[in-house]
This record gives sequence, structure tokens and C-alpha cells, in this order.
Amino acid sequence: MTVPRHHGAVPTGLSRRSVLTAAGLTAAGVAFQGSPGAASAAAATAPAIFYSPHQDDEAIGLAGSILEHKAAGRPVYLVLVSKGENGGIVQYLNRTPCVLGDRCSAPGHRHELGWQEAWPTPEVVSARTSEFSLSAKALGVDKVINFKLSDTAYGTESEYDAFVRQIMGKVRGLVRQYPGASHKFTAGWLDTTDPKQPTNATHKACSDAAYWLMKNGELKDVRFNHIYTYEAFGRDQRDRGADYVLNIPSSHMAKKRAAILAYNTWDPSRNLYTTGYHSVSTMLEEAYNDPREFVYALPSTYKPGRGK
Ligand SMILES: [Zn+2]
Ligand SMILES: [Zn+2]
Repeated sequence: MTVPRHHGAVPTGLSRRSVLTAAGLTAAGVAFQGSPGAASAAAATAPAIFYSPHQDDEAIGLAGSILEHKAAGRPVYLVLVSKGENGGIVQYLNRTPCVLGDRCSAPGHRHELGWQEAWPTPEVVSARTSEFSLSAKALGVDKVINFKLSDTAYGTESEYDAFVRQIMGKVRGLVRQYPGASHKFTAGWLDTTDPKQPTNATHKACSDAAYWLMKNGELKDVRFNHIYTYEAFGRDQRDRGADYVLNIPSSHMAKKRAAILAYNTWDPSRNLYTTGYHSVSTMLEEAYNDPREFVYALPSTYKPGRGK
């Protein structure tokens, strides 16, 4: 089954997998709350704030958790952390034939868009953000917040550190603005498709920011969803080490699939160019077909820094 193109009907009849694991313990030995929506009454109306490092991460690995929190009566805010500058995606979309072959949703699988490939890749930032907005709408989030941070995570070591500090500053602002909020990041220390490769630097910078704020005592009630697991592991391995596996109800899965579809919709009149699908087609496909999300507490062995 593949992610439908254009406005194709969403297939039904997906086989559901059984529950693979129950809530475990965090590395710190604190009981992990399997249903974060069932928080204290004081926090009941405080928002759950989800941080998507790039346009697409929310659809791939946060959507089910977003919907879980909404169903529990929590306001949900969705943050886009980086602008998502990406010359690689532009190269794909500037060239024909497409690397995706007949899986490409462009008419005739052809696209020679002539977009700027050099930093800061304005057209792809704009198109990716249009997909993100459509995804956020499909998920029904209460507020979208765009940090608009230039993604310097792949620059020099000091540019990486500066990026982490910028994220910290923005998150700190939300902590002060929304007391009692819970904060949901991506599990940057896990987000790679090859165990021998360093992690996705943008994702790692986001979890580093959470790490430092937690260490300072500024941030509490933090969880991390593993995004790259859908590509890095086969189905029976994806739950390994997770503190909580969310089994997404089918009504929520329909919305998650609609969010994923935003990243495979070709409609230039709406500034939609399937940039997500030209970036991470495998992850979108796998997440589309796996009604689970994988939630972690910060491990006690966590090491900040981009790594080599
Ligand atoms: Zn990402
Ligand atoms: Zn294409």
C-alpha cells in the first residue's frame, strides 16, 4: 500500500497490529505515564506543545500523539522549529526524470521547477511550509507556531551550538507563556537510519535544547517521539526501547493519513509540490501503514552535542 497521490481516496482495511508493549519505566526510574492526557487537573487546560524539527516530522511521528492529547481535552500547539532549508529536495524537484520514477506525483512524473538550490532555498522552504500548514489543519491543532529558525545544525560546531541556544530561547519563551504545559520533542538521539551515521543534526539539536532546559530545571513533563524508526527498523523492531507505544485508534489514524497525504499532494495552485515525498518517501509510506508511535523519556545516559 502506498501513500495515495493527489487527492486519491484513503485506503481502508489496514490490518491492526496487536499491542507490543506496555508502559515501562523511565531511565530515572519514575513511573512513565502512558496516557499523558490524564494529567493533573491543574495541567488539564495547559497546552501540550509538540515540536516538529522540520516540515513532515509531525505527520510521520507526532500526529497520533497530537490526536491522543486532543481527545483527552488538552489544547495542542504545534511548533515548526526550523525553516527547513534543503537544497537536496530542490535538486530532485529541478530535475527530470524524477528519482522517484512513477511514484512521483507530478504530472508525467516531470518537474523542472528552476528553484534556487543554494542556501537559503526560499521556494522549497515556502512549499514545505504549505505542506506543514495543510498537515496541521488535518490534525486540527489549536495553534501553529513557527519559530522560523535557520537550520544551521549542519554548519560548524559553533553554528550547531548557536542553533541549540536559539531553540532553547524560543522554548523558554513558551514555558513562561504557558505554565503547566507539557512539551513533546523528537527523539533526536535515535533519529538516524544508519547506526554508523551520526543522528539527524536538526533533530539532535532539538533534543539537546530539551536536555539543557531539563537539566536547568526549566522544563518538566517532557517526552520524545522516535521519528526515524519507521525507516530504520522493520515493523517488529520499531518498539525496541520505547517507554510507551501508542496504538493509534483508526479514527485518529485516518487524520494522521490525511496529514501524511499533505506531503504527497501536487497542486501548484496551493503551493503544494510533494516536497515531503521527494525527501522522505519511505518514512511517509511506513508511517502511513503503521498505526503506532513510539514515545521515550530522556535516557539517563543522554549525551548532548551533534556527535561526529
Ligand atoms: Zn526532520
Ligand atoms: Zn518527482
